[in-house]
Amino acid sequence: AHLSEINEHDGDVGAFLLVMADRAIERAKEIDKRRSGGEELGALAGVPVALKDNIVLQGVETTCASKILSGWEPPYTATVIEKLISQGAIPIGKTNLDEFAMGSSTENSAYFPTRNPVKLDRVPGGSSGGSAASVASRFAPIAIGSDTGGSIRQPASLCGVVGVKPTYGLVSRYGLIAFASSLDQIGPFAKSVDDASLVLSVIAGHDGMDSTSSRTATYEHAPNESDISSLRIGVIQEMMSDVSNDVLGVFNQSLDALRSCGAKVETVSIPAVRYGLSSYYLIAPAEASSNLARFDGVRYGLRVTGADMNETYGLSREAGFGPEVKRRIMLGTYALSAGYYDALYGKAQKVRTLIVSEFARAYSDFDVLVSPTSPTVAFGFGDKSDPLSMYMSDVCTIPSNLAGHPAMSVPFGGGADGLPVGVQILAPALSERVMFQVARALE
Ligand code: GLN
Repeated sequence: AHLSEINEHDGDVGAFLLVMADRAIERAKEIDKRRSGGEELGALAGVPVALKDNIVLQGVETTCASKILSGWEPPYTATVIEKLISQGAIPIGKTNLDEFAMGSSTENSAYFPTRNPVKLDRVPGGSSGGSAASVASRFAPIAIGSDTGGSIRQPASLCGVVGVKPTYGLVSRYGLIAFASSLDQIGPFAKSVDDASLVLSVIAGHDGMDSTSSRTATYEHAPNESDISSLRIGVIQEMMSDVSNDVLGVFNQSLDALRSCGAKVETVSIPAVRYGLSSYYLIAPAEASSNLARFDGVRYGLRVTGADMNETYGLSREAGFGPEVKRRIMLGTYALSAGYYDALYGKAQKVRTLIVSEFARAYSDFDVLVSPTSPTVAFGFGDKSDPLSMYMSDVCTIPSNLAGHPAMSVPFGGGADGLPVGVQILAPALSERVMFQVARALE
């Protein structure tokens, strides 16, 4: 059924870079046989899952929506995919993204843009736009994305689905092609809060293959917890200033809904989050410039042969990377260069520390914090061609990546043109359980 939905509608939406139809059907039959044989099956037995194309599955082309990786077949499988498969999930395809997950609209894919299934003349958000669109289109009940500065939550918000960025270290990054390693986290998209929670419980847990994976952290799915009457919820004042009126209107209704469930809702000031965007756009490109040095035309994907090795590097990178990726590599290299390191990268790290300590203070008074996920509803193609206006899309989502804290987006009502609006719930490190509790109250 999901494959025929894809056949019928993905021509319009463009959620998938690659559909694994034969492999998926074969696997479904195998699971069915095991079920008929009375075998005990996993929590996701037979459930199709769409995978962002920066997460590797052995033998299946993975491109990060970049020309530089075209034709590359990974020799191993990401831990999250192993875990999903071990619980019976069926990988159904690899989804489109902004090249190397750099962007907020999926327009930066080197192949084609993805359209928002709610309204095809709008972007789905990004960078995990293909994963969000695949769930919103019912191409797959669940999808996996990565979130470095908002790339799960912002497209979830724009497409009207649930999206979760877990605590840094809760989910293994092994097999996620790195963008900014200190910020990247893998997380689920789903139609409902409980589906997302179940998927998180499957993919969470320690992995020896990821040196930043927490040794002790786990996440247990607790579907019945929705009582928020004893909770204190803080509304982040600084995250309201760049938000459009339609989104603010819907967000205020969500606060009323939380109050009517008995929660105490008050505003809280976290002044340092105003510097989140500036600090992120030094730290993320700095890490990216280092991570992307491995794409040299020798080891992976595209090669444009020059007279010598140096020229081969240059020509391959020139031909293989798109404009946004080149911009980030240059920004990052500059921020890390000897004369500017302290003034740029060093200062950004100090701001990051400040954000962590201000969040800690806010969490001494509040159990969770809330904000709009995105300052606007889904925008049109080409509307944010100025990079800075595009970067603003993540003004509310970036601070949790800098802090390493969990955050999620839950759809709540409609803004301009009836387009979906998401409410962001932020929680202290490893407090996913209370975050999901609040999300259920909003559903
Ligand atoms: N939009 C942000 C960026 O372009 C965040 C991307 C992400 O989370 N992968 O860097």
